[in-house]
Amino acid sequence: MISRKISEESIKKAKELIDKAERIVTVCHSAPDGDAVGSSLAVVHVLGALGKECRAIVPDAYNANLAKLPGAKEIVDATRYPDFARRLFDEADLVICLDFNEPRRTGRLEETLRQCKASKILIDHHLHPDIDADVLISHPDMAATAYLLFRFFCRLELFNFIDKPAAECILAGMMTDTGNFSYNCADPDIYIVVAELLRKGADKERLYRQLFNTMSESCMRLNSYAILEKMEVFADDGAALIVLNREELNRFHYEKGDTEGLVNRPLAIPGVVYSAFLREETDMVKVSMRSVGDFPVNMVCKDHFGGGGHLNAAGGEFYGTLDEAATLFRSLLKENKEKYIK
Ligand code: 5GP
Ligand code: MN
Repeated sequence: MISRKISEESIKKAKELIDKAERIVTVCHSAPDGDAVGSSLAVVHVLGALGKECRAIVPDAYNANLAKLPGAKEIVDATRYPDFARRLFDEADLVICLDFNEPRRTGRLEETLRQCKASKILIDHHLHPDIDADVLISHPDMAATAYLLFRFFCRLELFNFIDKPAAECILAGMMTDTGNFSYNCADPDIYIVVAELLRKGADKERLYRQLFNTMSESCMRLNSYAILEKMEVFADDGAALIVLNREELNRFHYEKGDTEGLVNRPLAIPGVVYSAFLREETDMVKVSMRSVGDFPVNMVCKDHFGGGGHLNAAGGEFYGTLDEAATLFRSLLKENKEKYIK
């Protein structure tokens, strides 16, 4: 028996809003990952089966590996189709916000979302939700938004509306946020949900190949180059750093998502407890950090790199040069060691 997490009051209110809505849109965080896209598509499948007109809107492009998820062709990318996305928001009775905790995380959709008059339901697993929603279903202890969403559907008595495509989208979200069930997945209920999704026909092995083990030659070379030539290991301070500039990214024909997972790699080295990856973008430096144990990368990102996140996975945006960001990271090594490494 799976433990109950979502409050009865939230379920009741969400049910009312869904029952009376005809047009529903979903929105997720920018640079959407498998959890964001998988959750969005799962909502479209399940509420679509209920007879709702439901569209998934993403702020910007997602990794090509996700494009094969069932229903992905119907996703509206607000960067490519801004007018259409705005019209969908204008016409919606209900917006379901997935996998983010504050409007700022939706990038170019932030203002549209803030100004949207429709009712809103948030379903998310990031800390400190800060969003004006009618129903707030925020459970940071859940491994993935998609996992929370499965529980949400069950509580709404929609289990039978989860078909094979929906099951694959939910499983994709769960696999993404747990590194294919290698971290953040000690909760036994996760495996009960996985069993149900497999029973519904989800092809886990195909999803694994599609999501984790498919990459272009240039992407493989970029990641290998990053580790061979660009990884700095600060053994005394338990840290590692990888920095990639624009020229390097261009040389390997970088596409969004190509460096997904790279920041985790140095954590395999014994003694490295946190790892940072800095990527030069046009107007800022994208910061990504990961850690093992109780090293709080969310604090480092919040205090120094204009961001935040979870204890073991965080990120931010640094407005300055790539060199300045790297220098700042190196200058913090001793302080971080004293503060956070016992
Ligand atoms: P990633 O490194 O995969 O981009 O992000 C890992 C996690 O860090 C995300 O799930 C999110 O919680 C957090 N995160 C990433 N970028 C930002 C950011 O710019 N601002 C904040 N507040 N959190 C971020
Ligand atoms: Mn997530």
